[in-house]
Amino acid sequence: MQRLKFITVKSAKAIGFSVLHLLCVLVILLGLPGAKSVRVVNSLKTLVIDAGHGGVDPGCNGANEITEKQVTLGVALKLGKILADSMPEIKVVFTRTSDKTLKLSERPELANKNSADLFISIHCNANNNVSAAGSETYFMGLHKSEGNLEVAKRENSAITFESDYQDNVRYGGFDPNSPEGHIIFSLVQNAFMKQSLKLASGIENHTGKLSPIKSRGVKQAGFLVLWQTSMPSVLVETGFLTNSSDRKVLKTEEGQRKIAIGIYRAIRDYKIGLEASK
Ligand SMILES: [Zn+2]
Repeated sequence: MQRLKFITVKSAKAIGFSVLHLLCVLVILLGLPGAKSVRVVNSLKTLVIDAGHGGVDPGCNGANEITEKQVTLGVALKLGKILADSMPEIKVVFTRTSDKTLKLSERPELANKNSADLFISIHCNANNNVSAAGSETYFMGLHKSEGNLEVAKRENSAITFESDYQDNVRYGGFDPNSPEGHIIFSLVQNAFMKQSLKLASGIENHTGKLSPIKSRGVKQAGFLVLWQTSMPSVLVETGFLTNSSDRKVLKTEEGQRKIAIGIYRAIRDYKIGLEASK
């Protein structure tokens, strides 16, 4: 009897905690900028392709042979062309089609404004260790290793090109150099985790088969550019510009085309999967 009573009190406490926990999650969810409601995405009609960096922000440097902003634009435009030829039913929106400066927040804003069903951000990796090589595709979440955190911090630091980033509300006072800034802020993206993971896996599978750049797999970290999107979204680190073998692929039209075909095939499979599960 005593034991039963104990269990009942404990259960009641647990239920109370769960309700409180749920309420907190809801309050946080509704408070997130640009993410007032979580919608169901079960088709692929509109896709936003985001060529990372651009204009005053060159991204990482490939031994003065090429910059990240050039590679990302090359892959983005090639991917758009393949999609226009092979899947014209998909409306493709580019965040940029030239060497243009964009605020980091403008990229997810464009996707949200167009009610996009998918957001793909294209980047290149960099590391002090020049032997680090390979591609990685990220979806939003808590980093599982310091390496993932470093990648997110480097990409998030693009906001430091925005002179007013520290006192504006776009990023909630986010400081890319603060470790506390990288706590989990992915509650809305959690709703799309399965779909984002599926696409990320497809991208790594297909690009790994087609391109000489080896796949390092699918990873999670807190990227500002993904955080504010209200649809499935991934960030592709196509390869390391600091590695000579990867760079050789990334700087050529042919190398960029192979990566673009790999991403295209992943999109095609993802769309077929979505339609089959309806
Ligand atoms: Zn980047």
